Amino acid sequence: MSASAAGNITTLDHDVLVVGAGGAGLRAAIEAAASGLKVGLVCKSLLGKAHTVMAEGGVAAALANVDERDSWRVHFADTMRGGQYLNNPRMAQVHAQQAPARVHELEAWGALFDRTHDGRILQRNFGGHAYPRLAHVGDRTGLEMIRTLQDHGIHQGIDVHMECTVVRLLKDGGRIAGAFGYDRERGRFRLFRAKAVVLATGGIGRAYAITSNSWEYTGDGHALAYEAGAELMDMEFVQFHPTGMVWPPSVRGILVTEGVRGEGGVLRNSAGKRFMFDDIPENYRAQTADSEDEGWRYTQGDKTARRPPELLTRDHVARCINREIKAGRGSPHGGVFLDIAWIGTRLKDGAAHIQKKLPSMYHQFKELADIDITKVPMEVGPTTHYVMGGVRVDGDTQMSNVPGLFAAGEVAAGLHGANRLGGNSLSDLLVFGKLAGEHAAAYAKSAPAPRVNDAEVNAAAAAALAPLERSGGESAYKIQHDLQQMMQAQAGIVRNATDMASAVEALEDLKKRAVTVSAPGNREYNPGWHTALDLANLLTVSEAVARAGLLREESRGAHFREDRPKKDEAWGKVNLVSHKGPDGKMVIEKRPLVPLNDEQRRIIEEIK
Ligand SMILES: Cc1cc2nc3c(=O)[nH]c(=O)nc-3n(C[C@H](O)[C@H](O)[C@H](O)COP(=O)(O)OP(=O)(O)OC[C@H]3O[C@@H](n4cnc5c(N)ncnc54)[C@H](O)[C@@H]3O)c2cc1C
Repeated sequence: MSASAAGNITTLDHDVLVVGAGGAGLRAAIEAAASGLKVGLVCKSLLGKAHTVMAEGGVAAALANVDERDSWRVHFADTMRGGQYLNNPRMAQVHAQQAPARVHELEAWGALFDRTHDGRILQRNFGGHAYPRLAHVGDRTGLEMIRTLQDHGIHQGIDVHMECTVVRLLKDGGRIAGAFGYDRERGRFRLFRAKAVVLATGGIGRAYAITSNSWEYTGDGHALAYEAGAELMDMEFVQFHPTGMVWPPSVRGILVTEGVRGEGGVLRNSAGKRFMFDDIPENYRAQTADSEDEGWRYTQGDKTARRPPELLTRDHVARCINREIKAGRGSPHGGVFLDIAWIGTRLKDGAAHIQKKLPSMYHQFKELADIDITKVPMEVGPTTHYVMGGVRVDGDTQMSNVPGLFAAGEVAAGLHGANRLGGNSLSDLLVFGKLAGEHAAAYAKSAPAPRVNDAEVNAAAAAALAPLERSGGESAYKIQHDLQQMMQAQAGIVRNATDMASAVEALEDLKKRAVTVSAPGNREYNPGWHTALDLANLLTVSEAVARAGLLREESRGAHFREDRPKKDEAWGKVNLVSHKGPDGKMVIEKRPLVPLNDEQRRIIEEIK
């Protein structure tokens, strides 16, 4: 295949190319552009339509506006405990220290946060955070964040390439030389030459049947990095958020923000019992309320009270819900009950308070399920939400092991360890988006212009066109559906060795089917073709999840093995890293954790 046979390829030159325009990508692009370089920003859909816009509950930062006892140290300790100490401590420290400045910067750029009575940024409770820490705008925080970053970003001279999917990273020898993609509308190819590339492509939720993630989250950045020789880390840790909608079927998986529980919402089973009091992990016992009244007082700001068990970490709450459902104590449509309406018995204007604090949730249930959450409980169940695993990066620069390739946000690994605390993603995007942009720019300034290899470009074009040129092959939709069902059943919230070994086998079969896939039609907006190209990425990330999950013979954080239900000390000392071996097969290796320094160890000991 020659370049001309691949159709006209538009070539674009940038110093830094950012792939992904969510919070991490926008923040990285703003920072890289600030150093005077030519910056390109590519996204699969329209600018502003990234996952970040869907974020509801808030952004975690130890501003200490609502509780003066908060500090970066407590935020650091909470993040490490939540991640079951597999986190990169350097990242957890930088994140906790820099998040307040990034939130204030967002405010200076025009973000309008909810306010305390004395006019400071209001903060709310969230699972695993010792104090009210989430700066928020009702339950539409992501929208405000994207709007602000976008407004600020468009004045920085960034070239935005919307509705364009990157399908391959290009290299010059060992280092990055750019990226190759196609515009989704016309199906024409684009060659981006760049000295540095920042991946900010978000998550992998579409590998599962039930997910809060939208169609874009097919693990593209993870797979692009893997194919380019980068290492993926912690892929066994997929977060199943405890509360997704379960009814009606068409909306199953859509997120119900943790903010509902932060505002006093409680979980009950079919017998009306608050089952979360039955199972409180030892390392959280001292911080958890032992009566319903104490839990309620905590949500209302009583500093002498401890948090209710509904605000334990997501991995634990999701498993407790799963247990109730499996034991036959679930709600009529296979979930449990989340009740915020009950706060009307404690507050004078309960209904108005719920509508003010949780406007999107009120609308979501009214419009999609015909339920008034100010009057009756919601039905909720776990939904695939977030991947802690991603590209292994240096904790200070965000560069991967491939020179010139950076990653930030959900596509990167390290900050969250075995489990992410709610609100720590939006702050992750701001803190590490900025650092990735800064260091990518510094790298690009010192790097010579890379040479793009024509043969590599032609190979990428030929591979992209293959599904269109084949006929009679299987539909990509069918294979994607089978993959999602298989991952949900065999690598989901509760795992075991037998299921995951059979997932690994099933993936080999799915991979064989995927290479025969054909997409009828032409290159102009052809979703069947787009799905065929995304499929390969989903298969790569699913393989990393299943293989790493099979290897980690313990339960920790989001990875729960019913055949190994306990934590294992030896496994607590290593991360699992996946990379492509010389024979093209996936290799998974144990790597020692990044060690704690003395100060970090002291903080963790002090803030138990
Ligand atoms: C419903 C919901 C609510 C949430 N609420 C919260 C919350 O309250 N607090 C919190 O901290 N976190 C929350 N999260 C998690 C958080 O929103 C995400 O983890 C975060 O927004 C991810 O940001 P990102 O910048 O890494 O990527 P995203 O915002 O996911 O953006 C990814 C970008 O990459 C682009 N892209 C992907 N693949 C390609 C490709 N091949 N080529 C070109 N472009 C590509 C996409 O088009 C998009 O522009 C929530 C998530 C969901 C789904």
